[in-house]
Amino acid sequence: MRVARTIAAARAALADAPRPVGLVPTMGALHDGHRSLLRRAREECATVVMSLFVNPTQFGPSEDLADYPRDERRDRRAARAAGVDLLFAPTDAEMYPPGFATTVSVAGLREPLEGAARGPAHFDGVATVVAKLLNIVAPQVAYFGQKDAQQALVIARMARDLDIPARIEVCPTVREEDGLARSSRNAYLDAAERERAAAIPAALRAVAASIGGGERDPAAAAAAGLEELRRRGIEPEYLALADPRTLAPVERVSGPVLVAVAARVGRARLIDNLVAQPATRRT
Ligand code: AMP
Repeated sequence: MRVARTIAAARAALADAPRPVGLVPTMGALHDGHRSLLRRAREECATVVMSLFVNPTQFGPSEDLADYPRDERRDRRAARAAGVDLLFAPTDAEMYPPGFATTVSVAGLREPLEGAARGPAHFDGVATVVAKLLNIVAPQVAYFGQKDAQQALVIARMARDLDIPARIEVCPTVREEDGLARSSRNAYLDAAERERAAAIPAALRAVAASIGGGERDPAAAAAAGLEELRRRGIEPEYLALADPRTLAPVERVSGPVLVAVAARVGRARLIDNLVAQPATRRT
């Protein structure tokens, strides 16, 4: 596995790399969710590139940028074991040199859900850094997780709108045995919090069961999830039902619905989602 620290070194390493090239962007602290993306890339691509960059511009001033788990040696080993050909691990200064002035902003998709909770600058930071990574690596395919459903939508729209010729693949959420989605931020949980955090996927399943059972009123369906959370002492930042493509709020359930949740457990801010299917009406 080669390691590139600069944009020039990454471009040189990839100049005559076998196609297709697959890119898996990460912020490190690799877990089985990242591994599933890398596995998929390894299966589908002749060259696999993983980026490792904790992007400062997507963190708000009161968020966990300083505390975000960083262990590059461990991540290098995990990347090598997953069959990564090139690890691109730039510094902040390499990505954002003095005078950096451009922001990519995906109107409409950046505002709801995570945008409302964290501020719209969050997805501007995401869209801008991923646009840069796609330009630097020029992959034929880039892999993202459904765990960050809104992020995947923002990136797919950005790539489409800016004519970036990479296919954006969204991979299923990898979960622990009790349903908790794998996340680098799970490292913040102590044992008791880790146990309580299982209420988050349980809440999503409760909403999905309600919708699958025929509930058409989004507030009533959400209430089933809120009850699951509150039973474990969790008050979510949001538990929302949205259109899975546009993220528009759902007035009445009539097709697949994105059920998305964000909640703090201890000092971890956790997000999760699933796509719920309404009951098929018998005739
Ligand atoms: P991160 O390092 O948290 O920025 O995540 C890097 C990529 O891994 C993103 O595309 C995430 O959506 C994806 N990812 C994170 N957690 C999971 C998970 N549990 N299952 C699948 N993909 C994930």
